[in-house]
Amino acid sequence: MVGQSKLLDKLKDLARNLWWCWQANVIDLFRELDPTLWHDVDHNPVEFLKRLSPEQLERRAAEMALDSRIDYAFRRLSEYLQDTDSWGAINATILRARPVAYFSAEFGLHESLPIYSGGLGVLAGDHLKSASDLGIPLIGIGLLYNQGYFRQSLDANGWQQESYLNADTELLPIENVLAADGKPLMIAIETATGVLRARVWRAEVGRTLLLLLDSNVPENSEDDRTLTARLYGGDARVRIRQELLLGVGGLRALHALNIHPSVLHLNEGHSAFATLEMIRKLMEETGLPFGEVLREVAQMTVFTTHTPVAAGHDRFPSQLVEEHLGKIREAMHLSYDDFMGLGRVYANDPNELFCMTVLALKLSRYANGVSSLHGVVSRRMWHPLYPNVTEEQVPIGHITNGVHVKTWVAPQMAMLFNKHLGVDWPKRQRYAETWDAIDEIDDAELWETQQVLKARLINFVRSRMVAQAKRRNEPDANLERFADVLDPNALTIGFARRFATYKRAGLVLQDIDRMVDIVRSAERPIQFVFAGKAHPEDRMGKELIQSIVKICRDERFARNVVFVEDYDMNVARHLVQGVDVWLNNPRRPQEASGTSGEKAVLNGTLNFSVLDGWWAEAYDGTNGFAIGIGRTHAVPSVQDERDHSSLIETLTNQVVPSFYERDAAGLPRKWIARQKDAFRTLAWKFNADRMVMDYVRRSYLPAAGGLSCQ
Ligand SMILES: *Cc1c(COP(=O)(O)O)cnc(C)c1O
Repeated sequence: MVGQSKLLDKLKDLARNLWWCWQANVIDLFRELDPTLWHDVDHNPVEFLKRLSPEQLERRAAEMALDSRIDYAFRRLSEYLQDTDSWGAINATILRARPVAYFSAEFGLHESLPIYSGGLGVLAGDHLKSASDLGIPLIGIGLLYNQGYFRQSLDANGWQQESYLNADTELLPIENVLAADGKPLMIAIETATGVLRARVWRAEVGRTLLLLLDSNVPENSEDDRTLTARLYGGDARVRIRQELLLGVGGLRALHALNIHPSVLHLNEGHSAFATLEMIRKLMEETGLPFGEVLREVAQMTVFTTHTPVAAGHDRFPSQLVEEHLGKIREAMHLSYDDFMGLGRVYANDPNELFCMTVLALKLSRYANGVSSLHGVVSRRMWHPLYPNVTEEQVPIGHITNGVHVKTWVAPQMAMLFNKHLGVDWPKRQRYAETWDAIDEIDDAELWETQQVLKARLINFVRSRMVAQAKRRNEPDANLERFADVLDPNALTIGFARRFATYKRAGLVLQDIDRMVDIVRSAERPIQFVFAGKAHPEDRMGKELIQSIVKICRDERFARNVVFVEDYDMNVARHLVQGVDVWLNNPRRPQEASGTSGEKAVLNGTLNFSVLDGWWAEAYDGTNGFAIGIGRTHAVPSVQDERDHSSLIETLTNQVVPSFYERDAAGLPRKWIARQKDAFRTLAWKFNADRMVMDYVRRSYLPAAGGLSCQ
């Protein structure tokens, strides 16, 4: 019994640190203990261990000789946490005493922690994971949404239905942060209409700490208790109060814990109020005037903008700003007008709304977009803020987004890399030389690995489709049909992302009759897997989903076009690892970066994309496929038409032939050559280690070094 409870303790420790979610062998451990339960709890190890009976654990551990594997995993975690030989230990020493505070409204770490909606969150999650791997002193700050974004299902008409879970905090890998007196830490923010309070949770992401504010405390009004329940759920007032908690509350939480960051990194404008709290505090401590302190705070602030569309930036009426920030404004000795000017392009224009991006730009010395092209677009968009310089001189640079490799690479593919690149390849992932050895991988071995991943995806899709149909009480005939969708030998194209209009999910299927011929070709069939959510308020997005579901239900496409409900990190992982081609056709230049295509790269999935976002700087003619030639037309319908014909032409003349052209051994040699080109030219660059190192060298170190007062 003693041995067994020790095992359970070790498993609990493993479950409590999100490090497990990028360790394939720890995930295998959990799964092998009870595969059905692991599936039923949505891969949540905390809940899993609560529901696994001690007898079951003991029996399974004995059967599978798991104890030595559990010991080994536990030892590896301890070693990881204690490792002092990291890149950051050498290159980011000045951050050790005073870390980076990384603010984000969402963090996508794993499907079992529902505090993300999409790309922005996944990027923030990947940032924390790489900061941990690299040993960068960095603390994440966000909000705990216990109902998350929403779970998507479709009704019989293909109309999106939203439901919310109510995550039990006991079942999440988080713990209450305690104050010095041993009681749960409570943050308070005074507004004109009362005090807003929040408690603080902590999550461990490897070596990185993540603090999450939660307004669900008895001291708050009923309304305020649900303030942080949902992500992007409320009106402007809910939103500004969430952002007040994130920015001002987040910084207060750090200070209450006696953590004094040397850098504030605002991941998108939502958290920009943090800069105002920082100014208020420094003014109080130093007695220096506003202007001087503002320069100090700007010097330590790094701002990453993600929105290439003017309407997408958060803006608030000045009364709402005054209601929530009035106390801070008074402490800064600023007039109402001067204060509102901080959020306006034209400071004296009373009709201009208070824009969080403008505030962030005015209060940061280091601002960046998230791809080279997005840098250009952002400089153009915000040029009016800098009337004395040319557009090229607008001080917004770019650091292209990357993905956390071990989170997104399939274990089977990672094993191939272990064999050919050397087992320490993850530590060397950011160097081009590491990936040169890709050419040594045997073509057949690479191809077989992909077939395994594809089979896994097809099983996943089939069981999801059957479950979806069961939930809608569809007839048995449908269930049987869904159990047999998709052909393992057909060219499989994945398209999964938010159903925002500019992403043009319907583009590829626009000309149905043409598509019937292409999809149902006897010799060279193709098939599509779609997934993605529309924002609950976005009617057009929901109509787009409905139109695609209608095509899925069309007899002619029934086996070849499917829609998987409830896109999340789990669905994303299966898709990017299992399809042959990753399709992305946004209306250029509205995709700031995009990261799902970078996940695809790591798994030998070829990108087929408009030259927008990261792909505009990644595509070299042979490492994937391009739609269009990187031009933008002022009239959207003209651009859509051009992109549509380019898409169909490239699909039929390049993608399909190179996939189906086989040699005597049955291998598509040209296709495999392209996959290897993609690994070699892209994997070293579009990963989160490279991204975080860029932030350290270009933003964090200069921002931290310039600080002259405490
Ligand atoms: C990676 C990811 C995204 C971001 O993908 P884009 O390329 O920006 O569309 C969105 N949602 C989920 C669940 C993801 O895993």
